[in-house]
Amino acid sequence: MDIAIVGGGISGLAAAWELSADPKLDITVHEASDRLGGKISTSMFAGRNVDEGPDAFLRRVPDALRLCEEIGLDDLVSPAHGTACIWLDGSLHPLPAGLVLGVPARFDALEESGILTPWGLARAMVEPELDGSPLVGDSSIGAVIRHRYGNEIADRLVGPLLGGINAGDIDHMSIDACVPQLADAAHRSTSISLALEPALAPSTAAPDAVFSAPAGGMGDLIERLADRLGERGVTFRLGDPIDEFPRADGIVLTTPADVTARLLEPRSARAAEILAGIEFASVVFTTVAFRRADVPGDLDASGFLVPRDAGLSITAASWSSTKWARLDGDPIILRVSLGHANDSAPIDWDDSTVLEHIARDLSRTMGIDASPVAHRVSRFRNGFPQYAVGHLQRIDDLELTLEHDAPDLAVCGMAHRGVGIPACIREARRSAKALRSRLPS
Ligand SMILES: Cc1cc2nc3c(=O)[nH]c(=O)nc-3n(C[C@H](O)[C@H](O)[C@H](O)COP(=O)(O)OP(=O)(O)OC[C@H]3O[C@@H](n4cnc5c(N)ncnc54)[C@H](O)[C@@H]3O)c2cc1C
Repeated sequence: MDIAIVGGGISGLAAAWELSADPKLDITVHEASDRLGGKISTSMFAGRNVDEGPDAFLRRVPDALRLCEEIGLDDLVSPAHGTACIWLDGSLHPLPAGLVLGVPARFDALEESGILTPWGLARAMVEPELDGSPLVGDSSIGAVIRHRYGNEIADRLVGPLLGGINAGDIDHMSIDACVPQLADAAHRSTSISLALEPALAPSTAAPDAVFSAPAGGMGDLIERLADRLGERGVTFRLGDPIDEFPRADGIVLTTPADVTARLLEPRSARAAEILAGIEFASVVFTTVAFRRADVPGDLDASGFLVPRDAGLSITAASWSSTKWARLDGDPIILRVSLGHANDSAPIDWDDSTVLEHIARDLSRTMGIDASPVAHRVSRFRNGFPQYAVGHLQRIDDLELTLEHDAPDLAVCGMAHRGVGIPACIREARRSAKALRSRLPS
């Protein structure tokens, strides 16, 4: 049986891995661009291999770790610094211990950090005793956090952290779809802090082990996976943009939601309409190298986050040279991000405008006044799907509709049930497996 997989990002490759265990399937991966990996790309910059997009994956959602193990990629490393800082009131503050996804499970370190005003802290600390009942149904992250902890936690911690990871606005992001761990706590207990407390143990005991990445960068995952797929007989067609429904016994679409919607239109107008309704945010990741002597301070964190109301253009800066041992050295490498759901301007800026904004903001935040010795601007137009409230319900509808309209088809990717790499792998494998079960044995 012929299987066509459309899209050669991690979702397409993970689907191919799942299906290629069955020798009866003849699998072809069709990728529009001239390389595999999609959002994942590691390339030479300032003499070192630096990721352009994702640089690590969560260990807690085990699917990426499991895939690495299955393909024999055991040279994994974790960031040297587990903690990040946050830009507040004109200076950088280390994020205090005791937070889970920006939400305080314990208040002692938060109290000492000075991140909240005395009023904001007092409001947040009543959360475990607040009346109320567990959350029923989906809600925005912002609505839940503002209601339970007040606005300061939402605007100074949860917004920069969770809004930052998803390039989104926590007042519109679905808690169920974007942060299942937090949603679970909110659905289970009247107090989110009390429900989250047990989650603190592993991260405080081993703060460096929250994330992992291949020692040579995320590109190693793609390279090794493609090699192993090649050994199993999978064919790759690069530079092969699919613009109409491929002919095959089984099809897996892993393309971005707008492309998938167009491809689906002739087979299921309803499914196409659901996918076309998903909104996106665009981001610009800029890698910059500075001479060590031009960077004041120790850089003893993984980087910093910026709240949306701070008056800066940048949303975060990752101190890659401190974070990853392979990037240590002189010049120092930083990755700076711009653009989010409520700021779509940076994606259309030319390189010099991007660099001007970064220079202004790095001068303010890190005191860097020199020009970078090298830079690389990576643009991700519509790079982040935005999971609005009710998103998972819409994806359930999509899957049910497709089971009926197109049982020879599986659809997955970062717009569906999780933006992170482990969730993409999990969902690609799950939907590929479900497709296999619908095909003749
Ligand atoms: C800037 C950035 C940073 C991120 N950082 C992290 C991180 O640190 N950790 C983490 O876990 N996640 C991170 N993510 C999320 C993660 O990178 C993505 O969720 C994941 O890589 C998406 O994989 P995918 O295969 O679903 O989609 P994609 O990687 O987008 O792959 C889709 C593929 O389909 C191809 N395609 C498009 N149209 C067609 C067509 N018509 N025919 C054939 N092929 C087509 C594209 O060229 C692409 O290769 C980040 C995302 C971005 C944008």
